[in-house]
Amino acid sequence: MKVAIIGTGYVGLPTGVGLAELGNQVTCIDKDSQKIDTLNSGTLTLYEDGLEELFKKNVKEGRIRFTTSMKEGVTDADIVMIAVGTPPHPVTKEADMKYIHAAATELADYLTGYTVVATKSTVPVGTGDDVEALIAHKNPFANFDVVSLPEFLREGFAIHDFFNPDRIVVGANSERARNVIKELYKPFEGKTKMLFVKRRSSETIKYASNAFLSIKIHYINEMADFCEQTGADVFEVAQGMGLDSRIGPKFLNPGPGYGGSCFPKDTMAMAYMARQNGVNMSLINAAIEGNVNRKKQMAKRVLDKVKDIENPKIAVLGLAFKDGTDDCRNSPAVDIVSELVLQGADITAYDPKAMGTACQIFGNKISYADDMYQALKDADVLAILTEWQDFKKLDFEQAQNLMRHKKIVDCRNLLDVAEAKSYGFDYQGIGRK
Ligand code: NAD
Repeated sequence: MKVAIIGTGYVGLPTGVGLAELGNQVTCIDKDSQKIDTLNSGTLTLYEDGLEELFKKNVKEGRIRFTTSMKEGVTDADIVMIAVGTPPHPVTKEADMKYIHAAATELADYLTGYTVVATKSTVPVGTGDDVEALIAHKNPFANFDVVSLPEFLREGFAIHDFFNPDRIVVGANSERARNVIKELYKPFEGKTKMLFVKRRSSETIKYASNAFLSIKIHYINEMADFCEQTGADVFEVAQGMGLDSRIGPKFLNPGPGYGGSCFPKDTMAMAYMARQNGVNMSLINAAIEGNVNRKKQMAKRVLDKVKDIENPKIAVLGLAFKDGTDDCRNSPAVDIVSELVLQGADITAYDPKAMGTACQIFGNKISYADDMYQALKDADVLAILTEWQDFKKLDFEQAQNLMRHKKIVDCRNLLDVAEAKSYGFDYQGIGRK
């Protein structure tokens, strides 16, 4: 099939590469000409495990191309996917629809034949109706249907998740559109549950899922606080809870709060939609507030460790919002480091993939190390903020020789407590004494 994808970011690019690998003819469109030039020169614009190999293969075999031209991408496409950003509005925190509305208006003139316009971006309930109206207004002769096709991939696992989705949700109000999407996802038939629902239900499923996961994280973080006060161990508590099939073991890892480009903005957008519709969603509101406080609490933990040291130096390991990605958008690590910077801390940070993106945020407000041991040099405390598995291999012998004081705040519970203590480190993890 011929597929156009508008928006070549963390969703659009892996989705485009995945669809090309399945044999479709894909055109990725982005208005950012620098991004398109980079991709056309054979270089990726973001890091995702396994993406580079598939990208190069499909470019070479001519199944995927990149352009800034809406006309070039949309003309003759069977499916046009909208995968542009829906960031929080700076004032109300509702999902800002300006990119969606612009994309819908810009694509309208180039629709040819019957086309399915699929919204992959996370969008408020009722957006399908707006997109439909915008296209019909701009191009009254267009023959099209709008479907909701929410994206559930996890950054860092985008390629894995593209080929092994938990479920494919399709919100389509027309049989014809449903059949086009069925055809596109034929390779997943019999392997993945495909759920066909009303468009408004599909739009809501995405927010309901992300809000639920955010609440689950917030819950285990509060449980971790409880464990710290009572002598229970949150690992053991989570393990015991997770064995209950009604609860499940996932998203029960306590940490510095949820982050990334989705959970914070989607919980706020959901809360906004609830308020607009006169519905009290107290759990979501509690998770939003708790998550903001969580990051402050983590920054305080780090500062408390060095409160008696003059001009303390803080080593930070991890800046990305999670492992496997270079994405720092709404990263808890970035919020915590920002709080530390505001308190005047002297910080040297290292992240295996996110140094470039972090540098755009912090500039010269912090120092950057080439590896984790360089970050530790003369540090008074080490703060581990992202769950990169490499950090688990920290050599305590080397660390103790490099650091000025042997203090660790491990916000991801990555290190072995007994080993840290055996080297005399003052170690503080999450959710256990
Ligand atoms: P992104 O910011 O990485 O990419 C969006 C891209 O769209 C940018 O490159 C931008 O230049 C481009 N763009 C904006 N307007 C355009 C236009 N009119 N024409 C052409 N290009 C345009 O965003 P993302 O992280 O890929 O997220 C996209 C959507 O998918 C959001 O709604 C997000 O909530 C949702 N989503 C994201 C993830 C994730 O893990 N990042 C997961 C599921 C869903």
